[in-house]
Amino acid sequence: MEYTANQDRYDKMQYRRCGKSGLLLPMLSLGLWHNFGTDSSFENMKQMCFTAFDNGITHFDLANNYGPEPGSAESNFGRIVKENFAGYRDELIISTKAGYTMWDGPYGDWGSRKYMLASLDQSLRRMGLDYVDIFYHHRMDPNTPLEESMMALDTAVKSGKALYAGISNYDGPHMIKAVEILNELKCPFVINQNRYSIFDRTVEKNGLKEAVGREGNQKGLIVFSPLAQGLLTDKYLHGVPADSRIKTDGRFLKADALTPQRLEQISKLNDLAAQRGQTLAQMALSWLFKDSSVTSVLIGASRPQQILENIRMMENITFTQEELQQIDVISGNK
Ligand code: NDP
Repeated sequence: MEYTANQDRYDKMQYRRCGKSGLLLPMLSLGLWHNFGTDSSFENMKQMCFTAFDNGITHFDLANNYGPEPGSAESNFGRIVKENFAGYRDELIISTKAGYTMWDGPYGDWGSRKYMLASLDQSLRRMGLDYVDIFYHHRMDPNTPLEESMMALDTAVKSGKALYAGISNYDGPHMIKAVEILNELKCPFVINQNRYSIFDRTVEKNGLKEAVGREGNQKGLIVFSPLAQGLLTDKYLHGVPADSRIKTDGRFLKADALTPQRLEQISKLNDLAAQRGQTLAQMALSWLFKDSSVTSVLIGASRPQQILENIRMMENITFTQEELQQIDVISGNK
């Protein structure tokens, strides 16, 4: 069936600028790390993409290795673009990344020029695209000179295969060095992608959040796993549901994450969210906008309904100092 996007889609979403660049991203973006591989329902993937775009989510985030099998999320998304989103390409921000293990041998991993540029070509082929909007280096590589990885990003942009460059999982000091190199190359580096949630405060401690907001050189920050892969919802409060990530795909979230202490924190946060008139998922997402550092929050979903629930976080993104303090105390960050 042919897809026509909701006419009102831009009334519902707010867009934020990536640092000082021209690029605006929706407050919520959709990531395709889980539930878009060969083991998932194509119809459900399609419905999730439609629900997102119908509600103003213009940004879809991928990586070369998303699956399983690695590459299959890009292939599936490419099919959706071709069959349903083709007429909307100029309304979409599509990102991909290279940096984790992708193919056998010494050229299928990390941050060499050889790997990154070959990987981008493969990603474009799988998605059936001429270019991606953002191409990321997916993780810091301790053994490749930073200049080499950054020059590969610059080549990707200057060859027209990517419009903007990004880096992911970098800490503050490495990001600052990367910015220096990319500024010198006049490469449009606009965004960092890092994990951040009520439970995971790494970016507050490794200098990244501070570096992103540096006066005169502000960059975008899109944060992943904002729900700690589903822990920051009410779903695990009464056991492990059969349709939850822990049960359906235990690669990165395992049952041992549900310690008694974690469950107690989730339960208390759930009570606080209820007092604010939100679900815990909505409070965990809106908490990320407590200051101006975060450009977009990158959610995952296993069904369209979750996207609809999560978007409603925009109805309440202000927190009292007392609420912020309570969240820090409950989550063990004070
Ligand atoms: P989240 O923390 O948002 O977790 C998403 C999962 O939580 C869903 O798949 C679903 O799992 C559950 N969920 C979502 N909404 C609700 C709800 N309202 N109620 C109950 N459960 C809910 O994000 P992800 O960990 O999936 O990461 C998001 C994206 O970030 C990825 O797709 C990827 O694009 C990016 N990412 C980037 C990384 C990087 O290194 N750059 C690393 C990891 C992610 P279920 O229903 O199956 O339990």
